[in-house]
Amino acid sequence: MIFDLHTHSDSSDGSLTPTDLLSLAAENSVNVLSITDHDTVAAYDRISDDSCGTVALIPGIELSTTWSGRGIHVVGLNIDPTSIELRRGIEQQQSARYIRAQTIAKRLTRIGIDDPFDAVLTRANGAGIGRPHFARHLVEIGVVKDVRSAFRKYLGPGKPGDVKSGWGSLDETVSWILCAGGTAVLAHPAKYKLTTSKLRLLLDDFVAAGGRALEVVSGQQDPSVTRRMANLARDFGLSASSGSDFHHPGLAWSAPGRFPALPADIGKVWDSW
Ligand code: AMP
Ligand code: MN
Ligand code: MN
Ligand code: MN
Repeated sequence: MIFDLHTHSDSSDGSLTPTDLLSLAAENSVNVLSITDHDTVAAYDRISDDSCGTVALIPGIELSTTWSGRGIHVVGLNIDPTSIELRRGIEQQQSARYIRAQTIAKRLTRIGIDDPFDAVLTRANGAGIGRPHFARHLVEIGVVKDVRSAFRKYLGPGKPGDVKSGWGSLDETVSWILCAGGTAVLAHPAKYKLTTSKLRLLLDDFVAAGGRALEVVSGQQDPSVTRRMANLARDFGLSASSGSDFHHPGLAWSAPGRFPALPADIGKVWDSW
């Protein structure tokens, strides 16, 4: 069974519609899929029951938060997308996103780029604006050659477009997921580039907030990373989750369902569903 519990549609910064994402997941033999768009559950309003085909869909979301000055992501799985508390949290996150986009646009304008706000708003096409929308705009106007360079020069850590303020706290984001009846999963723990002792501090706070799972496998990763994350999950009494963090088709190394299997001897986040 392939459980891909972390993917993005064009309701946030992915490029496929939720329906096309489901079709691609089915083609790639995914059995259970969660669409976990950034700070929104809009994808679930765009899917009808008959678009799921052979794929079981688990409602999910990826919430942005800040912990110790760093951008951290918490995935909520098996949530009720209609939960009032969650919807209120999402409204708060979306307004933070809009204000952050205005700040990013101002900062980029200050360093000589024509005000990108309107173009980025159009590009997002109703989705909450994220840095990838800015990145693709910077590529299109020829300021950088690709999205990677856009993050390296303008949007990544310590760069003008790295504006983290405004997200709900770790406690708040986890509590919205719990109020929606879901399981809170710490997303892609290896991507934060934290030392093991710092990551353990984050996990202390995450567990205290009510977090119950760790994304032990996120996309293509080295077996040593999987082992390290599985050991951390065991230490903290967390179950394991897996996902591709898929955003765009056409990349050989990134597709729905394409990631190493979780270790056999670890509790899975879906065991209790
Ligand atoms: P935001 O939600 O605005 O904070 O943007 C975060 C998103 O940007 C992530 O979910 C990724 O999709 C994307 N991202 C972050 N870092 C990079 C990078 N170095 N290169 C390409 N995309 C990135
Ligand atoms: Mn993303
Ligand atoms: Mn993420
Ligand atoms: Mn993601």
